[in-house]
Formats: sequence, structure tokens, C-alpha cells
Amino acid sequence: MIRIDSVTKRYPDGTVAVDRLSLDIPDRAITVLVGPSGCGKTTTLRMINRMVEPSEGTILIDGEDILRRPVNTLRRSMGYVIQNAGLFQHRTIVDNIATVPRLLGWSKPKARERARELMERVGLDGSLARRYPYQLSGGQQQRVGVARALAADPPVLLMDEPFSAVDPVVRKGLQDELLRIQDELGKTIVFVTHDIDEAVKLGTMVAVMRTGGRLAQFAPPAELLTHPADAFVEDFLGADRGVRRLSFFSSAGLELTTAPVVTDGADEPEGLGADVEFLLVTDADGRPLGWRERGSSARLLSHGRPFVAGTDSLRAALDCAVLSPTGWAVAVDADGRVTGVVSQRTIAEAIRGAHAEGGHDDGGHEDGGHEDGGHHEGRTDKKAVG
Ligand code: ADP
Repeated sequence: MIRIDSVTKRYPDGTVAVDRLSLDIPDRAITVLVGPSGCGKTTTLRMINRMVEPSEGTILIDGEDILRRPVNTLRRSMGYVIQNAGLFQHRTIVDNIATVPRLLGWSKPKARERARELMERVGLDGSLARRYPYQLSGGQQQRVGVARALAADPPVLLMDEPFSAVDPVVRKGLQDELLRIQDELGKTIVFVTHDIDEAVKLGTMVAVMRTGGRLAQFAPPAELLTHPADAFVEDFLGADRGVRRLSFFSSAGLELTTAPVVTDGADEPEGLGADVEFLLVTDADGRPLGWRERGSSARLLSHGRPFVAGTDSLRAALDCAVLSPTGWAVAVDADGRVTGVVSQRTIAEAIRGAHAEGGHDDGGHEDGGHEDGGHHEGRTDKKAVG
């Protein structure tokens, strides 16, 4: 564990970048530092690998003060990834990645072999190995940066806005890749971003910092969305935090009905309630074709994107119902076969139930926020799925 213990950083010009920050960063998890520009995230990250020395307080790794470790040994145990990757422009991709193993005295063939293995791990085609950084896209360069940081297999990875300079689609790909790599490698990752969506997506734990280098809240993402500690955190999470929170609730408990589901060409089922206005038509294999108005033979209305019951979140189910022309969402199994349909109303009830179980949600309050920022401390959201 990396323990940041009451650390303050005052730069020579008097700027207090970090103010009595205490954080316990868990092993083998992603801890995200998030907050507005200038709130001290980068300074905090750089104090962990001693690129910046604290003015006060201590940083401990597994109980040992990092000042007691030779700085080179410390840095070798920490991969470091920055925005725009920071690659050596005059070196090929494979040699960029092999940099640290070479510094550690590995032979050239062994270091290059390791580099090629890492290219595969981060989703880079081996054919790019002999290219130079300028011949790669921004997203590919960022992957090289991650591979280079992983090359010597350090237990810790420090990442400073690594994906901020690429477009949203590439960024999502990089985030998914990082989560996949983390599943395999289980590093202790400290990740800096100013983007709360990125923080909520990647973080096992999220530290929200505020200007002046103070910690506003340190919690798992679901907890953050449920119980923001104060008005600052609530504002930072944005107006749609209620909807985003639904990503942490499973759709498993939704009551599906198969009554309005019919196979193409079959007769309308008997005994349907008058409230059922549409039928979901499937092919013989059970895959959805579209919605048909009852008693009509007009062409089918699009069924939209179905959700996978149990795997997808309540947010996905809600999205599905909101986008559906009938207001009903279509549930499928992992193979895409219909398992039932569910109305917006039923989803809304499940949402109310989830909110109730997740702790009373006090909704938007315009009164300047909680005065007792710590009153939710220690609660965890039992429904969190991910
Ligand atoms: P963030 O990463 O959250 O944007 P930084 O840690 O980079 O924040 O900066 C925190 C504060 O410290 C800012 O006010 C910044 O201007 C200031 N700062 C950063 N580096 C220096 C420095 N070398 N000298 C003086 N002030 C600095």
C-alpha cells in the first residue's frame, strides 16, 4: 500500500499545491486522482516517485518511508505514463519500449523480445515495431507509452492524464484496454485525470481534490455518486449523476414478461391485457425483429438496442426503454435471443428500489450542501457491480 500521510507541497514561490493530503492507496487496484485543473493532482503523483519532494508529511510504501529508498530503485519500481506518451522521437517503437529493460542491463535481443510481447499486450500490431513515434497515431503512441511503462514489470504504475490528448472514441478504447490489462496484471495504479467520467469508469477508488490541493472525498465511484460529501463534489459530478449512478446497479432483478413476445407469422397470443399496445416480433430463432402495433399489419417499428438481462446495468435497460418507440425495453441473453420485455414503468420501479436499498438519496439540494461532509463515511454501496 502507498500511504500519503498528511503531505503538503509548497513551491518556492509560495504556492501551496497540496495541502495536508492523506490517502491510503490500495494495492492492485486503480486509484484515480480527479479534480479541476491546478488542484494538485500532478504534484501529488510526482511526489510518489520523488520527482517532487514534499514540504511536510511522509509517503510510505508498505510501511517504509520512500525517502529511505534510493531514488533510482524507487523509480524503477514505478512505471510512469504521461500525456502525449513522451516517447523518444529518434528511437523506434520497439526500442522505446525496451528502454528500461536495457537500462536494467538486459541484452538487446531479450529486451526487444519483451518489447514485442508488450506491444501485443497493449493491442499494438507487431508490424509497427520498426516505426518511429511520428509514424503512429496519437492513440497508438499512448499505447506505446503504456507498454514502455510496463516493460520492467513494475508493481506500481503512475499515469498522468495519459488519455487526455486523444479523441473520445480512441480514448474509450484506451480505457477499456487499460481495464483489461489491469485484470491480467493487477498493478497498483495511480491515475490522474480532470475528467470525472474517466475517474468513475476506471477507479476502484476515486480521490476528488479541490483547488488548493485539499482532498474533498475519497471513495469508490458508486459511493461518490450516491453520497457526494459536499456541494463541491456534487457539482463536480454533474447534473446527471443520478442517471450515471444506475451504471452500478444490475438489471438482474428486473421483472421481464414474455406475454407480448411472438414469433414472426404466429397468431397474437391470447389473454393479453388491454394495456399491451405492442407485440415484439422475433424470428424463428428468437432474435428480435421489431415491434408491431396490436391488430395492425403495418411494418415493424425498430426494437432499438436490446440490453443483456443480468449482465447490463439498470442504466442500459433504462436507456433502451427511453429510446424504444414503444417505451418498452427488449431483454436478450448473451446470444441475442429475446428473454422478455420490460416497460419503462417497471424499470422506474426497480430504480426506486435500487436507490432505496443503496441508501436514501437526497437528490439535488440547492441549499449550499451538507455541512457535515463526513456523515456518510464508511458506507459502501452493496449493489455496486463494478
Ligand atoms: P493539477 O495537476 O491538478 O493541474 P498541479 O499539481 O500541476 O495541478 O499544480 C498545482 C498548483 O501548483 C497549481 O497552482 C500550479 O500552478 C502550481 N505549480 C505546479 N508546479 C509548480 C512549480 N514548479 N512552481 C510553482 N507552482 C507550481
